[in-house]
Formats: sequence, C-alpha cells, structure tokens
Amino acid sequence: MSKIKVKSKQILQIGEGQMPSPLLNRILNPTYKPPTHAIILARVSSAEQSEGKSLEAQEASAREYCKRKQMEVEKVFSFVESSTRGERSQFHDMMDYVVQSPHTLAIVADTLDRFQRDYKESIDYRALLFAGRFELHFVANNMIINQNSSSSERMMYDFGVMGAKSYVDQLRENVLRGFSQKVKDREYPFKAPIGYKNVKINGKKTIIVDPKAAPLVKKLFVQYASGNYSMHAAAVDFQNAGVISCYGTSYATGSVGRILANPFYYGQMRICGQLFPHSYPPLITQGLFKQCERVRQRLNKGHFEYSAKPLVFRGIVRCKKCGAILSGYSKTRKMKHTEELHTYHYMRCSGKANQRGCRADQVNQKTLETQMLGTLKKLAVEPKLLDEVLRQLNGASAEEQAALEATRQNLQRQLGKLNKKRSVLIAREADGDLTSEYVSAELAMIKQEELDLNGQLVTLQSDTKQTNWTVERLLKLAAKVDKLFVSSHAAQKNALLNCICANCVWDGEKLDIIMKNPFRLILEGINDIKKRPVRDSNS
Ligand SMILES: [Zn+2]
Repeated sequence: MSKIKVKSKQILQIGEGQMPSPLLNRILNPTYKPPTHAIILARVSSAEQSEGKSLEAQEASAREYCKRKQMEVEKVFSFVESSTRGERSQFHDMMDYVVQSPHTLAIVADTLDRFQRDYKESIDYRALLFAGRFELHFVANNMIINQNSSSSERMMYDFGVMGAKSYVDQLRENVLRGFSQKVKDREYPFKAPIGYKNVKINGKKTIIVDPKAAPLVKKLFVQYASGNYSMHAAAVDFQNAGVISCYGTSYATGSVGRILANPFYYGQMRICGQLFPHSYPPLITQGLFKQCERVRQRLNKGHFEYSAKPLVFRGIVRCKKCGAILSGYSKTRKMKHTEELHTYHYMRCSGKANQRGCRADQVNQKTLETQMLGTLKKLAVEPKLLDEVLRQLNGASAEEQAALEATRQNLQRQLGKLNKKRSVLIAREADGDLTSEYVSAELAMIKQEELDLNGQLVTLQSDTKQTNWTVERLLKLAAKVDKLFVSSHAAQKNALLNCICANCVWDGEKLDIIMKNPFRLILEGINDIKKRPVRDSNS
C-alpha cells in the first residue's frame, strides 16, 4: 500500500516546472484576440446514450459558457455516434465547417473526449489547431487549447491522442523562459551565425555584421537562388576566403546548407523551432530566402525520398558490443519456387564502418519489432488494475490536498504574525522605545519574509486536480500504446519510440529497453501492483 503510494506521487510530479501560459501568450503572440464566434459540439456514443447522458445537457452548458465568454453561437453539431461503426461523417461535416469559416471559430464541447477521437484524425487537425485556425474550449475541464496553449495544456491534448510531442514542447518552454527577456528585446541569446559577429559595445553585448563574411553569405544566397551555384562550390569559395565555421574548422557543404536554412539572414531568429524578429540588420530579403528554399527542395527531392524509406528503429537501437547505432538496410530476394520478389529489412551495427572493428551480426527488423512489442504490452494495464491505480491516485490526491491545505493555513498564520510584529515595531518607535534605524532594518526583514511566504502561497495554489487528470489520460494512453505501435506506419513508430524509449540496446539476442519517464514509472507501478493480490470487489 505504502509503496504504490510513493509511485503514484512520483507520477504526479510530471506536471511541475511549467511556465504560466499568460507569459508565453505574450511572448508568442502579442496580437492574440479571443474568437468572437463559436460552434457547439455535443456528442454521445450509443453506449452513453443508454446510460442517460444527454445531448441537451451538453448543449445547455456549452451555450451558457459561450454567453459568459461573449461568443456568438453560429451552429450546433449534436449527434449520437456509434462506438462500433468507424465512420464519423458528422464530425467531418463539423470540421469542414470550421476549416472553411472565414474567421477563427471556437469549438465548445463539454469535455476533451467529446472532440478527440483517434491518433490519425487528431494529427490531421493538430497543425490547424496550433496554427490558430480554430480553438478548442472544454467547459467541464475549464480548459482552452489554442495556438498559445502552454506545454501542460498541449500535453493534455497530446497525451489524449499520442503522448509524443509534449516533451519537446516542455523543453522549448523551459528554454524560452530562460531567454524570454532577451527574445522580447529582439536580441539573439546565442552565438551569431556566420556573416555576423558577437561584440561588446560600451560594455553591452550585441551582434554586428561581419564585414569579411557577410558579402560571401549574400553572394551565396543570390547565386544559389539562380540554381546554378552548388553548395559545394560555395563551400570552396568560403574556404578560399579563409572563413572558418563556429567550430574552428573550414567550411563544408553541410555548413553551407545550414546558412541557406537560417532565417536569421532576413530578420528572423529561430529559437526552439519558433521564429522571432530580431533587431540586427538583415543581409537578404525574405523573398530571396524563399527562392533559395524552393531551389533546395527541388534539388533535395531525390535524396529526401530515399531517406523516407520505411525503416523502423532508424537511429534508435544501439549495439551492446561497441555502442554504435544500428543502421537499417533492405535486401530484395527472388523466392526460389514462385520467382516472386520479396524485400527483407535488416539492422546491423554501424561500428564496422566507423572502424570500431565491431563484428556484431545483422538482425531481421521483424525480430526487433516483436521484442519491442513485447515490452510495450507490459505497459498495458488490465482494466481491473487500471481502476485500482486510479483509485490509489485519487486517494493520494485527497491526502495531498489535505496536506496542501494545512501548509496553506500555516503560511497564512505566519503572515499574520509578521503583520502583528510590524504594528508593534511601529508603535514602539512612535513611543520612543526603539530607534528609527533599528525599526527600519527590522521592517525591511519583515518585508523580505512576507515576499517569501507569499511566493510559497502562489506555488501552492497550482492546480493538482488538473495534474491528476493528466495522469489518468496518460495511463489510459499507456494501456493502448502497443496497439498504437502496431497500427502506425514507420515514421509514426519511430516518433512513438523516441517518446517512450530512453535507451535501446541490442546484444545479439535480446533487445534491452529502458523507458523514459513517465512510462518507466508506470511500468514500475504496474509491476508493483501485480505483485500484490488484487482485491475483489466484495472485500
Ligand atoms: Zn557494434
């Protein structure tokens, strides 16, 4: 009992360390305006309908919500959806309506699961959602998901459907928080790209155009846009001019490619995948940049198709003997009797090519997939166990709430004491008992303590309930991650594996997988529960 509680508390911590979304809103989108029009989505599955959940109630609460948010309701999509039949034309009608709308619409629904359906659909609409084409408002969850959503909100949305993107988002936000002030001031917080120089002017760090390298960069863009100047030729020009890369080495084709892909040269800095305007002089126009982009895409097409070959585990599994990444390759063989062609996919250690002298055998990709699936299946909590975990989780949460409340009251008591102390000090100063210097010093200390205590109070008020809800979603996702893996194509499989696996090692026979948190914690938690006898519902 006590052990599982520790586990569930560990799981609870995944919501921490996130930035409040208002700050992110301001950084990412200072011109954001909330939508003025909404459509209402009310949906029940046929099973829910028999349980008596009503469409009317969903619609009524959504209407009330729209009124409160001053959004005009344009249309109501209210339907019963069979959980057994796959087609979902009414949902698609709704999404067509939303996508074709001339203004941004809010889709107002009771809870997230009214909207979300499955992996593929969500991915289809995800890009539009976070591009700001529409917003999702969930009345009962008190949650809005839009282009400005914070990482925790995106995480809830994503974990509801896949669970892969959230870590990237969170990472991006953590970095953003560190650099937010600089970015707001349109300053680039990193080493300047080639063509610019980091300098100190009057003690202040800034970036200026590098008179030696900037003309070469300009020439590169202008000539490359014509389609007759190769990256290789550019690299040679850079070498001849004596320009060196930021690593102190001479210029190679790859470095030239990075210049051509860097929006910094027309006035935008890319930080964690987001573009922000910077305040330094641009070297080229955005038009020229785009032209080069088109040329690059045309030239790269052949290469791109090659590397898009469906190979699962690309860059994910390592060789146990030498630590090198296993690379994939395919072989097509003619079947002996039928003359049919058949393609086999293998993985082999790349250590040999790297002169590490490793002679590990190749392995059929199917073998790796089977073993991976075996591990993923372990994440699947049986429904009975899932209930148990959720029960534990909610129990832990109730205790946690009580502890939080006690802490809150304690903090408030201390604040009260400080207030009293201040009154006494001021009164005694007025009476001439204490010197002004002494009282000022004491008051300054009280002020500092108050700030401290108030800070702790604010931290306490973060919403643990919401975290709990995330965990519930996460567990339900983990329970079907094996099915998700089977039904995905290679690129999706790799995205999923990158999200779940911290380390995959192949020793010639067995695939050793170490999972990332929170999946590792879930796995440990499940193993823990499995060791204990499951209580039946009568006891
Ligand atoms: Zn090896």
